[in-house]
Amino acid sequence: MGSSEQTWQTLSALPLAIIMFNEEQNRFYFNSLAQSLFSVEEYANLHDLNVDHLSLSDTHSSRLLSYDDFLPCAQKSKPLSITLANSKNNTLKLLDFKFASLSQSLFITICEPRTFKSHDQRQDFDELISQISTELIDIQNESMDKQIGKALKTIGLNCQADRTYIFEFSDDGLSMSNTYEWVNTDIVPFKEHLQNIPRDSLPYFFQQMQTRHVFNASNTAELPDEAAAEKAEFTNEGIQSVLCIGLVSEQTLFGFIGCDCVKQARQWSQTDLLRIKLVGDMIANALKSWQYKHKLEHTQQLLIAANKELHQQAHIDSLTNIANRRQLDLVLQQELNRCARSDLPLSLILCDIDAFKLYNDSLGHQQGDLALKDVASILAKQCQREGDLAARYGGEEFAIVLSATNSQHALTFCQKLQKAIKKAAIAHPSSNIDPLLTMSFGIYTCTPNKQTTADSVLDITDKALYKAKQNGRNRIEMG
Ligand code: GH3
Ligand code: MG
Ligand code: MG
Repeated sequence: MGSSEQTWQTLSALPLAIIMFNEEQNRFYFNSLAQSLFSVEEYANLHDLNVDHLSLSDTHSSRLLSYDDFLPCAQKSKPLSITLANSKNNTLKLLDFKFASLSQSLFITICEPRTFKSHDQRQDFDELISQISTELIDIQNESMDKQIGKALKTIGLNCQADRTYIFEFSDDGLSMSNTYEWVNTDIVPFKEHLQNIPRDSLPYFFQQMQTRHVFNASNTAELPDEAAAEKAEFTNEGIQSVLCIGLVSEQTLFGFIGCDCVKQARQWSQTDLLRIKLVGDMIANALKSWQYKHKLEHTQQLLIAANKELHQQAHIDSLTNIANRRQLDLVLQQELNRCARSDLPLSLILCDIDAFKLYNDSLGHQQGDLALKDVASILAKQCQREGDLAARYGGEEFAIVLSATNSQHALTFCQKLQKAIKKAAIAHPSSNIDPLLTMSFGIYTCTPNKQTTADSVLDITDKALYKAKQNGRNRIEMG
């Protein structure tokens, strides 16, 4: 063994990233730590790593140095930059490093991490990943497809895959669907064809996925016989290599992220695996948090609808769909208070269908219900002003609150109601008052004070209505 080899054996074992240049052999030596720093593990024989693979430049001027320039610089310990292009055209750069001479022909340098500036895909990947993870954290539905698409593209380009995708299992776990897909240029997308794939159709794949959360086939042709169905599927899609990693949330496997190589096979590296897993975890988080958010929004909507329904039930009469007695009491008191504060008059009308018992008896209860609905909608339609309210007071009796309305205007309003009922021409053949349905009206107008109660106002109005009934029906009486 030559002395330079011996020196290298001793040096390379040190726990430092070391590069040695042997001037006699015109050859660079990288120990294993330096190799991993430069990602040059793929050089089968590092002795082939001669100056052709490296370009040297002056750190300050960035001027490229010829090999002849190198030695004088190394001898003078002048800072240099070294760029190495590996077989994948990844360029890796070491800045400001100095060679120290061990002898006339041996020069070494120690690559400290801070002197190592990588322009390689690893750094690009890390940057992209941190960007994607930030974007995926508070994902909105509209940007979901875009962000996941971007993540799949990043992983596809970095793992040199032709197609990357996400599959999600159905709720019962019996089938799976391709929900997101990225394909490289000239690669056929398969997403549309890969929907609701039954689990039973790919038993080997599912077994691997379920037990190991990984399916790794660098060469699909070499899959075992038991994977016949999977092989057929891969052949159909032209897949030479495939790597799938499970997506897990709350200890449950709910899908997987995967990469296919179509153009040429690929031996998946540990780095590929880690990168895909990392992106898969991020996507799994994004998908799940979006699902939770979506569920929450849905629950909120149900709650709002239930609340609305509850309010309806509490304040709306279910037959006629106008305000019920409870709402009338509330609004009447509210408007009395308002008018008391503003020193304004308030009018209340109570009206009751004449001879409605006879109507029911002759035409049936159902027809009676329809007549009640018609009357309610006629009354409600007249109440256009804010503060006016038509309500079903009970049975075939209705109430109308007219806020800030004096008795003269209330009377005019009541006459309008009477006309509108007449115009509706609801036949009442058994009535002894009129062949068309009629109503009796009682009006009471007051200028309320703080003590005026809804009950007292209703009571007086009811008396006016009673008077209208007493005086022959189909008429208006003032309280
Ligand atoms: P009056 O002119 O004195 O008001 O006579 P009337 O027959 O209208 O009054 P009465 O109080 O004797 O009868 C009221 C009728 O209204 C009896 C009841 O069956 C009917 N009624 C009350 N609520 C409803 C309802 O929701 N649907 C139907 N179809 N009828 C109702
Ligand atoms: Mg009646
Ligand atoms: Mg009545």
